[in-house]
Amino acid sequence: MLVELRNVSKRYAMGDIWVDALKDITLSLGKGEFLAVKGPSGSGKSTLLNILSALDQCDSGTVQVGGVNIGKLGEHKRSKFRNRHIGIVFQSFNLIPVLTALENVMYPLTLRGVKNAKARALQALKDVGLEKQAGQRPTQLSGGQMQRVAIARAIVTRPDIVLADEPTANLDSKTSETIMALIQKLNREQGITFVISTHDDYVTSLASRVITILDGELVSDRLSGDVLASGYDR
Ligand code: ADP
Ligand code: ADP
Repeated sequence: MLVELRNVSKRYAMGDIWVDALKDITLSLGKGEFLAVKGPSGSGKSTLLNILSALDQCDSGTVQVGGVNIGKLGEHKRSKFRNRHIGIVFQSFNLIPVLTALENVMYPLTLRGVKNAKARALQALKDVGLEKQAGQRPTQLSGGQMQRVAIARAIVTRPDIVLADEPTANLDSKTSETIMALIQKLNREQGITFVISTHDDYVTSLASRVITILDGELVSDRLSGDVLASGYDR
């Protein structure tokens, strides 16, 4: 299994009160899956993604990604793990404004000292349908185009897994659909593993598997076929 979470719990202190952001989550994920994480705001979706990317650590339980026990790594090794294994797509795109689309996509490769960075970045831009915009800066691009650049930047390093926390939250519904169709295509055609958190039913309808988290608890885990048929998911 690419990802193995066993009995993972995480709490946050809010003054005198403890908030259980995740309660005893056990979950495995295989290579090539497209997992949607559903649940209302505050249910623990971001916390789960932050633990998978080793941005955050759980209080109890174990987290393995690509055979690495990331719960036990120190700060430096966690950042190294992230660079090697994880691609991240943000809801606010997080592109570097002074760099062109191509330079934004090249950036993580340049940091790693990859030699054919430009050719690989151009290919990634082509994969997201933006090769014509390679020379444009983020301000010259639409929201949907910016998110495409961000997706190209996340996949260009060939990560084991791409994590996206509400990637369509800042996009209109039409643009959201094209972004999700792109993610579905990358998953199907290139076998890229995606984990996406969302409120959006359209997003979950394209995923191959949907888990629902409510108040930190994993309350359902379904393969795509039965998601639409069930009345439970909201
Ligand atoms: P989402 O858009 O996924 O609902 P939020 O807006 O709830 O995310 O949270 C955004 C980020 O802020 C997350 O990384 C989360 O860990 C952090 N966060 C959420 N709630 C709090 C809080 N009460 N105090 C501090 N940080 C928080
Ligand atoms: P979601 O992504 O589903 O909106 P989050 O994972 O952001 O949910 O938050 C789950 C719970 O944990 C919420 O009650 C939130 O306020 C709390 N929380 C998240 N991050 C922090 C933080 N850094 N500090 C304090 N509380 C947090």
